[in-house]
Amino acid sequence: MIDPRTVQRILDAADIYEVVSDFVSLKKRGVNYIGLCPFHSDNTPSFYVSPAKGICKCFACGNGGNPVHFVMQHDNISYTEALRYLAKKYNIEIVEKELTKEEQQAQSDRESMFIMNTYARDYFHNILRNHEEGRSVGMGYFRQRGFREDIIEKFQLGYCTEHRYAFAQEAIQKGYKQEFLLKTGLCYETDDKKLRDRFWGRIIFPIHSISGKIIGFGGRVLSTQTKGITAKYVNSPESEVYHKSDVLYGIYFAKNAIQKANCCYIVEGYTDVISMHQAGIENVVAPSGTAFTFQQIKLIKRFTKNLTLLFDGDAAGIKAAVKSINMLLEEDMNIKICLLPEDEDPDSFARKNSSTEFQEYIQKNEVDFIRFKTRFLEKEAANDPIKRAELIKDLVGSIAVIPEAITRDIYIKECGQLLHIDDRLLVSEVAKQRTANAEQKQKPVHGGTQAEGQKEETITPPFATDNTAVIDAARARKAREFLKYEQQITQAIVRYGEKIMCQMEEEDGSQVPVSVINYISNDLKEDDISFYNPVYQRILEEATAHANDANFISERFFVNHLDPIVSSAAIELATERYQLSKVHSKTQTVLSDEERLFELVPMLMINLKNAIVASELKEIIEQLKNPAIAADENKCSELMNRYKELKDIERIMAKHLGDRVVLR
Ligand code: ZN
Repeated sequence: MIDPRTVQRILDAADIYEVVSDFVSLKKRGVNYIGLCPFHSDNTPSFYVSPAKGICKCFACGNGGNPVHFVMQHDNISYTEALRYLAKKYNIEIVEKELTKEEQQAQSDRESMFIMNTYARDYFHNILRNHEEGRSVGMGYFRQRGFREDIIEKFQLGYCTEHRYAFAQEAIQKGYKQEFLLKTGLCYETDDKKLRDRFWGRIIFPIHSISGKIIGFGGRVLSTQTKGITAKYVNSPESEVYHKSDVLYGIYFAKNAIQKANCCYIVEGYTDVISMHQAGIENVVAPSGTAFTFQQIKLIKRFTKNLTLLFDGDAAGIKAAVKSINMLLEEDMNIKICLLPEDEDPDSFARKNSSTEFQEYIQKNEVDFIRFKTRFLEKEAANDPIKRAELIKDLVGSIAVIPEAITRDIYIKECGQLLHIDDRLLVSEVAKQRTANAEQKQKPVHGGTQAEGQKEETITPPFATDNTAVIDAARARKAREFLKYEQQITQAIVRYGEKIMCQMEEEDGSQVPVSVINYISNDLKEDDISFYNPVYQRILEEATAHANDANFISERFFVNHLDPIVSSAAIELATERYQLSKVHSKTQTVLSDEERLFELVPMLMINLKNAIVASELKEIIEQLKNPAIAADENKCSELMNRYKELKDIERIMAKHLGDRVVLR
């Protein structure tokens, strides 16, 4: 909720060298600085800071960015919190954005809900400690499970009596509003308009946000009362403050331990988390009442990339583990799976073993997913070639989602060894699978920009269909097909946008300087081309809009862009390791990229256009192979004409490139 102008002031003031050197000791290396990366255990300095670009980046783990990104990653805090930190460092007074009525309402609603939940937590805890039923039933249960006093206190466990209306009545009497009893889901309204306690007769597990706020509750029915009640656990319903797919039970108590151990254990239930804490293992969390989700992985990823799934040795546990694997791999997590001995869950196992014994068991028994899946699936597959093929396909599917090539390679080797398959076969299968995945994934975002219509006109095959699904798929393919070309052009915009690359001659013979952005945007406009990849299209549009601003420096503008999607993309493109000249080295001179813009940029443009033309030519050939079209004489000649036209364009382009290079 910081005013955008304040945000811009902070971004302008923050000096990347000053910000990073508060945490990393930096040495000068040429125009840059280098140091040990704070984000991975680094032995040789892989972390470089470029004061000129205003960014930092680790070549080994890829972390870094502008000053805000750095602070966010370093302190595991949000974008806004990072801005506040920098504002403080640079003595910038924060002007809060004026909230609309709705925003104010929403904010005070959230505050009220946190206050309501905090009251409820204290109420339930007090009942557990001091109420007769709480002490006998609630406390009795915890004692029977062997929970220690300090653990009950730490997790702020509680109890709600069987009265059904007791909590609601007391809260109302204390002046809490019915509205927030309902909004938090602590109570619900019965048919006769009475407020009933959602958690009556249950043991209470408060659920904390990462910063320790109470966002919801889990309630467990006691085994003596399960008659007629089907669910053992009830959780708070989804609310403004509780989104169960974003929440990990125990994260507030585990985050420091996870960071320290550089590893996180995932278990299934609340009591698993608590028992392990009691046994002295604190880097452990559980999904709260859901299957493992993408957002939960993101949350863990802020602290570590190493995950171990701890599951019961029964079939259900194994199935649950298998289900989560691909999602975790896709997020570039390093995952291990550890099955507990039969008839044990983390809760019972923690109670029977010391912390050291438990840790030793994990170390001895955790395996990576290849071994886990192989072991699990191979039993059935041993003598059945079809099942064996399925197992291999399954493993290939898992390896294919891993983003890092080196990691994929390691797993391919391991898989080959375990199953006695030729690595080369696996490599090609994984590559095939990756292509298929990418095609499915590259669904571009509909920005609703005016350029969308143009795209269709320029590139869709002559007989466009009005079936949106088909168009979407086609566009997704195009976005992928032209990614490389669009990326290179956008890189030229980000790195050299404002630089003068050539002089154009006007009709009256005068010479006009042309910047990289002007050149690119005019050239694309002339041919009615826009980018398929939304973030590049956005950079192109914004660069065009600002190209003639006084003192506009493209790299600074995009690297510090207010939208993190744009700034991240720009940082990626601004990073040293990608050199345009590595892609194109037509001349054998020692000129730098910047000195060769007059020839590099036109070449990038021609490359894109060639790719577009080649793609349409290929499509036409495909069309002509279609028997239905081959039978249609008109359609055929239409296609043939377009084919000839495109071939001509190809020739003209080659010549055109020569023309422009002469201009300098
Ligand atoms: Zn690093």
